[in-house]
Amino acid sequence: MLFQLKLLRSLLNPKLQKLISVFVVSFLVVGCNSLIPISQNCNFPEQNLVPGGLLNIKKKNVNLDLIDFEFFECGQSKDLRIIAPIAYNFDMRDLENIGLIIKNKEFRESRIVIKEKKFNQLSKENLKRINLERDLYINTLKKKYSSSKLNLPLLSPTKGIVSSEYGVKRFINNVRKNPHLGLDIAAEVGEPVYAAANGKVLLSENFFYRGNFILLGHAQNLKTSYSHLNKSIVKKDDEVSKGDLIGFVGSSGRVTGPHLHFEVLLLNKKLDPEVFIQNNL
Ligand SMILES: [Zn+2]
Repeated sequence: MLFQLKLLRSLLNPKLQKLISVFVVSFLVVGCNSLIPISQNCNFPEQNLVPGGLLNIKKKNVNLDLIDFEFFECGQSKDLRIIAPIAYNFDMRDLENIGLIIKNKEFRESRIVIKEKKFNQLSKENLKRINLERDLYINTLKKKYSSSKLNLPLLSPTKGIVSSEYGVKRFINNVRKNPHLGLDIAAEVGEPVYAAANGKVLLSENFFYRGNFILLGHAQNLKTSYSHLNKSIVKKDDEVSKGDLIGFVGSSGRVTGPHLHFEVLLLNKKLDPEVFIQNNL
C-alpha cells in the first residue's frame, strides 16, 4: 500500500501535488470549522465602528476572505452574523478592506497624581511581583473555559458615578501612560459589586496595580474584570449568575480614591464597557 502511494506520488507532477495538498488542507480546515459550535444566541450590541466598539454585520454582507482580523460567528443559520472587537488601536485599513469605515473618536486627557512611594519607585520585589501577575493574567486570558449562556446586555456592576470613561489619555504625575481602557465608577467603600453577566471566576487575586481583582469568563468570547475591590467574595472556578454579589468597592491597588475599574474584553481585546451596558449607571 505504502509502495503504491509512493509510486502514485512520484507519477504526479509537483503542480498537481501542490493542488492536491491545498485541496486536502482546505477540506480539513472547512471540516474542522464546521465542527465549531456556532451559538444561536447573538444578542451583541449594534455595530459601532469606533475604537472600543464592535463589528456586528450580517455574514452574507461581507466577504470573509477579505477579513484580516479575529472574528466569530453567531446567530440563526439563516441570519448568521460576524462579530469582531474594534480594539483601541485597531488598524482602520482592515475595515476599509471590507468596505467599511471606522469613525474617528477623540478621547479627553486625564491627569492624576499618585503620591504613594511604592508605585512611583518600584522595588525589585514589586517588579518581580508585577511580572508574575502579568504572566498569570495573560496565561489565564489564553485558557479555554466553558460558561453558561451569555445574557446581554451587561448589568452595570455597581451604583455610582462614572469618573473616567474608556479611552481617556492618562497622565500619572505628568508622565503619559497607556490609555484608560476601562470604565471607572466612583462609589463609597463597601458598595456592592455584581457580576455583569452569567460566568465563571477565572481569577480572584490581589494584584499590585489592580488591587483585589476578579476576572470573569462568559460565553461567546466575552470576559469582564473588576479592580480595586475592598473585598472579593468569590474564588477561582466559582460559577456566578448575572447580578450575583461578587465583592465590594474599595481603593486597593494604585488609585486616587475608592472606585470600581470595570473592563469588558471581547476576544481578549478591551472594549468600551458603556457599549455593552444598556441600562443607566
Ligand atoms: Zn480605571
